[in-house]
Amino acid sequence: MEAGGCRYQFRVALLGDSAVGKTSLLRRYVESAPGTLEREPEPEPEPAPTVGVEFYSRALQLRAGPWVKLQLWDTAGLERFRCITRSFYRNVVGVLLVFDVTNRKSFEHIPDWHQEVMATQGPNKTIFLLVGHKSDLQSTRCVSAQEAEELASSLGMAFMETSAKNNCNVDLAFNTLADTIQQAL
Ligand code: GDP
Ligand code: MG
Repeated sequence: MEAGGCRYQFRVALLGDSAVGKTSLLRRYVESAPGTLEREPEPEPEPAPTVGVEFYSRALQLRAGPWVKLQLWDTAGLERFRCITRSFYRNVVGVLLVFDVTNRKSFEHIPDWHQEVMATQGPNKTIFLLVGHKSDLQSTRCVSAQEAEELASSLGMAFMETSAKNNCNVDLAFNTLADTIQQAL
């Protein structure tokens, strides 16, 4: 499948505290697509922050049939300083809000990340998915699936657990987000 043949292009961002596993999740997703791997530092048509932002892309087929090119944005360390600029969020249609199931603080910060997107988004509604990452670390987890479900539903989004280490639900998380974006178009 050639990315150029995609009917849609969705810009998606991964947000959450430092070290929750955003970059690992993203790399696992992009690298698990044989033949469609495109690692981009991609020149942007408009000025964008060039420091601390990384782009990846992958084509995927929506449940409804058409192909979409996901343009994936990673904060690449900027999240540590909370200095993500407005231009990072520009034209972002979907966000994976990622926390680490073994890191309570990263879960407690999810409403802040959500609020930051809500405050910076344009006129179009952003689609969110809450992701509890590092699900392979069951013995040290300190956020239950139930409380994560409750937070997700209070914020109006779905919840899913992933592991980049075990490659668990990685494709499913991105596919679910893409399908939800397409349904909301
Ligand atoms: P980021 O700062 O959110 O981009 O997080 P990174 O992707 O850099 O990962 C932070 C740390 O968590 C690294 O040591 C990763 O190896 C580790 N990590 C990432 N994903 C997983 C996972 O699914 N399971 C486990 N056990 N560790 C992970
Ligand atoms: Mg990172």
